[in-house]
Amino acid sequence: MSFFSTRGESCVTASQAILRGIAPDGGLYVPAMFQAVPPERLTTLTDMKYEERAVIILKRFLEDFSIHEIEDAVKAAYSPERFRHPDVAPIVKMDQATWALELFHGPTLAFKDIALQLLPHLLKLSAEKNGEDREVCILVATSGDTGKAALEGFKDVPGTSCTVFYPLDGVSDVQKLQMVTTGGSNTHVIAVKGNFDDAQTGVKELFCSESFREEMAKHGKVLSSANSINLGRLVPQVVYYFSAYADLLKQHAIAAGDPVNFCVPTGNFGDILAAYYAMNMGLPVNKLICASNRNNVLSDFFQTGIYSTHRTFFKTISPSMDILVSSNLERLLYEAADRDGALIRTWMTQLKENGSYSVGEQRRDWLLNIFWGDCADNKDTLGEIKKRWEQDRYLLDPHTAVGGHVLREYRKATGDDTPTVLVATASPYKFAADVLSALTGDNAGGDPFKASEELEKITGIPMPEQVKTLRDLPVRHTAECFKDRMDKAVLDETT
Ligand SMILES: *Cc1c(COP(=O)(O)O)cnc(C)c1O
Repeated sequence: MSFFSTRGESCVTASQAILRGIAPDGGLYVPAMFQAVPPERLTTLTDMKYEERAVIILKRFLEDFSIHEIEDAVKAAYSPERFRHPDVAPIVKMDQATWALELFHGPTLAFKDIALQLLPHLLKLSAEKNGEDREVCILVATSGDTGKAALEGFKDVPGTSCTVFYPLDGVSDVQKLQMVTTGGSNTHVIAVKGNFDDAQTGVKELFCSESFREEMAKHGKVLSSANSINLGRLVPQVVYYFSAYADLLKQHAIAAGDPVNFCVPTGNFGDILAAYYAMNMGLPVNKLICASNRNNVLSDFFQTGIYSTHRTFFKTISPSMDILVSSNLERLLYEAADRDGALIRTWMTQLKENGSYSVGEQRRDWLLNIFWGDCADNKDTLGEIKKRWEQDRYLLDPHTAVGGHVLREYRKATGDDTPTVLVATASPYKFAADVLSALTGDNAGGDPFKASEELEKITGIPMPEQVKTLRDLPVRHTAECFKDRMDKAVLDETT
């Protein structure tokens, strides 16, 4: 298998796609074809550990990696020191028809660990395969969770460095503390005076700037990306959809071949796109429910077929989904456009120049066969946390609660009672003040540590080690920059 750019004809191997991050024409790498997991293979996953399931799925994308390379990478990434749950990504039954897929048992308590613990290994192998011996310099724009997950994944990995840009006032206290206290000799954290889209646009421009690449090359460095546009981020996420299905089979919640729904709290559209890829590989899916917060550019898109960024940007209590330009949607558009790169180029130019594009009603209807989009505001989100806790004694973080609310609305609107997996993307302790206020009306003065202690007392759910130790770690990163000076900031920090 090889990989195409969504905007043109370039054709590269998996390792080249991972190493480059983004295609030279600004497009994203997509598989030339989806390799099926036949139904008999799918049922054999039930008896396997997460690591074994991962090898089966990953090898369908990573054509130029050997099985042994994939096995070693997976073993290192999902070791018990890194993931505290023996199943890595367990499903937990919430009610008769709903399971939480818990993706927050990794080092930074959010789902991005699943991909970002594996990516450094894939990237290192990719560099070797392509004779790349310069230092691989990772640039990341983060809305909160990616940054810390990338820093943890790349910390002290030889031959790499990791520079993270976060919006100065756009992340939670815990997210910020997690990042600025990161150790390691190759990690850099810079606050951008702007919002997440400014940071993300800035990083994209750095990748596309010939002069910046040349400047870095002079210092013996080559750029790569750990953002969710990198293929090496996307493919590890496909694994847990198969794994969740296998676990439902194992628990006899479904029979082989039964379709399920996945409800996914969405920002950059990476997580839910992985579900769509799993479906294209033969996973029986009925509906993919795309849940947005008040920045509901995606749910509007599914409803109208028009993607428009002419709207106010809101800061919400689910900051990792505060996004107006959803990068990975381009990969779905590519399928919706029958893989017509020229059409994608047109839409993306319209987006850049006019802030919007329309895919037309026919393509919108095609998308609606698979997807359902809706949104939840802060009040809905807090209400959902309280309801879930009171009804089922299951504690949601605000991101997952956006999904929970949208799922409730979806069921009301459609009457669909297909077994549904709600993707639980973060630990409630990562957003303890808001979760506490949902339960009690009091947020402990916004102090995340006091709120965590209170939450532990009320719910009896143990506070994760990572939160307990965070308070006493020294701050190591204080750099700030303007959004049009990110190139200079990278050079200052890394050379
Ligand atoms: C990143 C993130 C999301 C959104 O995931 P996308 O892949 O960007 O759609 C949702 N919840 C949490 C906790 C996240 O960190």
